[in-house]
Amino acid sequence: MKKAIAPAPPTPVGGPAERLALIHSVLAAEAKAGGHPPPALIAISKTFEADSIRPLIAAGQRLFGENRVQEAQAKWPALLAETPGIELHLVGQLQSNKAADAVQLFHAIHSVDRPSLVKALAKAVAAAGRQPMLFVQVNIGDEPQKGGVATADLPGLLALARSEGLRIEGLMAVPPADRDPAPFFALLAKLARDHGLSGLSMGMSGDYDIAARLGATHVRVGSALFGIR
Ligand SMILES: *Cc1c(COP(=O)(O)O)cnc(C)c1O
Repeated sequence: MKKAIAPAPPTPVGGPAERLALIHSVLAAEAKAGGHPPPALIAISKTFEADSIRPLIAAGQRLFGENRVQEAQAKWPALLAETPGIELHLVGQLQSNKAADAVQLFHAIHSVDRPSLVKALAKAVAAAGRQPMLFVQVNIGDEPQKGGVATADLPGLLALARSEGLRIEGLMAVPPADRDPAPFFALLAKLARDHGLSGLSMGMSGDYDIAARLGATHVRVGSALFGIR
């Protein structure tokens, strides 16, 4: 591991194509070192307007992530109409009353974290006749203020999702700030393995390299691509 504590995200250099190339080369090298395939790179475009997003699309990026349903609804329909093949991922907290909207707009939802949301999503999926890729968000450091299901409650939530007919792809987490993320990524990977889940959504601008080394299948990178919010 190159570093114990993830530093502040670096100020991105170069244009979108250079930024993407740099991140992809790091992801490939770290994943290979860890014995894993390289993860998918989700560009987190929250707070950035369409004009900041288009250059990344022009550079070939197709996976994008937002953290608010309303913001995504305002911004993305036009961009999706311009370019076929874009996948939109929701990475922020989802209110149950927005579950139907989220199922309509997003290709994946990374923030399934409580029984009421599982039930709302099951209803929305049945109505829509399609299911986005779903990740259960785990409060991997069991921090009181943090989103995600407590690690102790994960088995129950996965069982509920199964009984409601939802397919869960994997687990997502944001490790505690200012701590070495590696043990938390390793724990998330172990939990996913224990539950037979193949997806691992972990790693952001400051620690995507460590996440890739530890088997992330999806990294969520915002400021290293778009600049500081
Ligand atoms: C904003 C956000 C990211 C991206 O964060 P950066 O540090 O800008 O890369 C990733 N995951 C979630 C859940 C986020 O809210």
